[in-house]
Amino acid sequence: MIKVVHVKDKLREDKQSLFTGSSLYDIRIENSLKGKTVMAEPSYLKLYREGKLQERVDRAVGLLKSCVLCPRDCRVDRLAGETGYCRTGRKAIVASLHAHFGEEAPLVGTDGSGTIFFSSCNLLCTFCQNFDISHLMEGHETEPENLAAMMLSLQRRGCHNINFVTPTHVVPQILEGLILAVEHGLSVPLVYNTGGYDRVDTLKILDGIFDIYMPDFKFWDEKWADRFCHAPDYRKQAASAIKEMQRQVGDLVIDKSGVAVKGLIVRHLVMPNDVANTGKIMTFLAEKISKDTYVNVMDQYHPCGKAMGDQNINRRITRSEFAVAVHWAKDAGLHRLDAWF
Ligand code: SF4
Repeated sequence: MIKVVHVKDKLREDKQSLFTGSSLYDIRIENSLKGKTVMAEPSYLKLYREGKLQERVDRAVGLLKSCVLCPRDCRVDRLAGETGYCRTGRKAIVASLHAHFGEEAPLVGTDGSGTIFFSSCNLLCTFCQNFDISHLMEGHETEPENLAAMMLSLQRRGCHNINFVTPTHVVPQILEGLILAVEHGLSVPLVYNTGGYDRVDTLKILDGIFDIYMPDFKFWDEKWADRFCHAPDYRKQAASAIKEMQRQVGDLVIDKSGVAVKGLIVRHLVMPNDVANTGKIMTFLAEKISKDTYVNVMDQYHPCGKAMGDQNINRRITRSEFAVAVHWAKDAGLHRLDAWF
């Protein structure tokens, strides 16, 4: 049980303190079970104060020269405008930004999660629930300055965090915008909201930058991952990525007002005919990650994109399919379930 015992947020009142090295966030979180006190501030501020954030930006941008940001390993020169599987070149394409009230409760709090939704994706699932944005690439190319302005605008609206949706293929561009935003007073935690097909080496660049990781774990079976995402190695990559995320941020910590401070949230979309192999994924999370993993077992699957043409996934799930999925999660020992049933 985590309890915040003191909060003093100087940064929003005086962004100059960012450059003084004084205490920026003084959030003392007392873990009343283990009796230890944890100091928390958005991690990227520490890296910035230490002068290390720019080096991370440079490392990430360097990966665009022969792109190996994600497991697709396209090795195209995105700095020169070439594109690979994700069809995104030098600039990030942003589809939308808004204060989102439909995300998990610890992200939404009272004032919303500041969502920035990127176009395209490195997975391109045939049934994507946001097909217009991922496959049809709605959106506009965005400079780092614009991205920074978006982050700051969401913070000004009172959002509890900046939630980057589908960030994997635009990690360097996010970091380029982030450093500008930090220079102008950004001070809320960042959420890495990903499909889970992430390369561990890229995630290591983000160590100490993102406080909250929110990966999907979509499929267990190679056959279905290949059929729906053309990524037969999805399970292997997602499992490694989630282990790395857990190593960096640990189990989800929520403050006394119910808002996420740091940690891992895993999403799992229950699929018709159990093509996701929910039980195996829940067992993995409980046994290889942590029984305290915060897991959102989602029931909202509906056929989108090309799903109507596939008899395995051309319908919504039934109530009993969802009940069984939740049972599997509980049976595995997971107890922090964000599942409505
Ligand atoms: S980020 Fe895009 S171009 Fe780079 S490896 Fe992944 S899919 Fe290919």
